[in-house]
Amino acid sequence: MKFIEVKGGKKINMKKTIIAMCMVFVLMASLGFVVTSAKNQEQKKDKEFAFPDNAVEVSPGVFYLGKALDKGKVVEGYAFLMKKKEKFAKPGTVCGNGICEPGENINKCPQDCSGEDPTEPDASSCYTFLAKGAKWKTVEDYIVNIYNDDGLDELFITSNLISNIDKWEDAANYDILGDGSSTIETLEADFYTTDNQNEVYFDDLGETNTIAFAVVWGIFGGPPPFRELVEWDMVFNDAFTWGGVQYNQALMDFENIATHELGHAVGLGDLYTDLCSEQTMYGYSSYGDTSKRDLASGDISGIQALYG
Ligand SMILES: [Zn+2]
Repeated sequence: MKFIEVKGGKKINMKKTIIAMCMVFVLMASLGFVVTSAKNQEQKKDKEFAFPDNAVEVSPGVFYLGKALDKGKVVEGYAFLMKKKEKFAKPGTVCGNGICEPGENINKCPQDCSGEDPTEPDASSCYTFLAKGAKWKTVEDYIVNIYNDDGLDELFITSNLISNIDKWEDAANYDILGDGSSTIETLEADFYTTDNQNEVYFDDLGETNTIAFAVVWGIFGGPPPFRELVEWDMVFNDAFTWGGVQYNQALMDFENIATHELGHAVGLGDLYTDLCSEQTMYGYSSYGDTSKRDLASGDISGIQALYG
C-alpha cells in the first residue's frame, strides 16, 4: 500500500494559492473573462447540504440512491450517514476519568489503563453486511482532496487513510482497496451514478448532525456469489472541527471516523445496539470519541466472514 502524489504536487500553501488565485481572478476579470471555477467553488461553499430528491431514507441514516449502469452491469447506490449523538458514551467508553473500565484497554485508553486490560463483553456477533456476499472483487485506487478548514495536513490525512485501510485488510488477510492519490480538483460524491472514481474529501455540509457519510455502489441483490462492490466515496463534514494528530476531546477525531467510513467502503453496515457500542461500525460518534480507531471483535469477525 503506497500513496502517490499527483496533480497537486507536494504540500500546497493555501494562503499563497488563494492570494495567487485572487490576483489571477482580478486580472482576468479586468480583461472581461469569467472565472467560472472560482465562482463555482464559492457557491459550493455556501450551499446547504441535502441529498437529491431521488434519495430515499430506507432506515435511519441510510439512503437508497437508486439504480445506475456501471460497466454494463446494473448497480445500486446507498449513502450511510454517521450521525452525532451527544453523550452516547457510557461508563467504560470515556477515556480520562482515571478508571480502567470494561470496554477500555491500554490501547484505547492509556490514560486510564496502565497495564490493566479488563475483559470486554463478547460482541463477536456485532457485524452486519451491506448485503451478504457484496464485497470487492477487483482492487481499485482512490483519490483524496485533503483541503479542510482545520489545518489537517496532507501527510497526516494520506498516511492515516493508508493505516486505516490496513486495519481492515490485515483483519481480512485480503487486499481489498488500492492505492491513494492526492488531487486539488473539486470532488463530488456520486448520488446518481458511478463515475469510476473512489473519492475522499471534506465538505461543509451546512449542518452539524451528520459527521461524515460514505456512498457505496454495488450489486446487492441476486445470488450472493454474483454480488460485488464497484465504487465508494467518503465525505467528512467540514462544519465540525477536525483533529487527530494528538488526542483532543474537543475535536472530531479523523482516524476514528475514517476507520468507520472505510468499514462501509469494504462492505460492512452500521450497528446501533448498546452491545455493539464498542465496535468500529457503531453508527454514532461525537467529539472526542476514539473508540472506533481500533477494530473490535465484531468488526474483525465481520470482515473475515465477508472476505474469508
Ligand atoms: Zn456508518
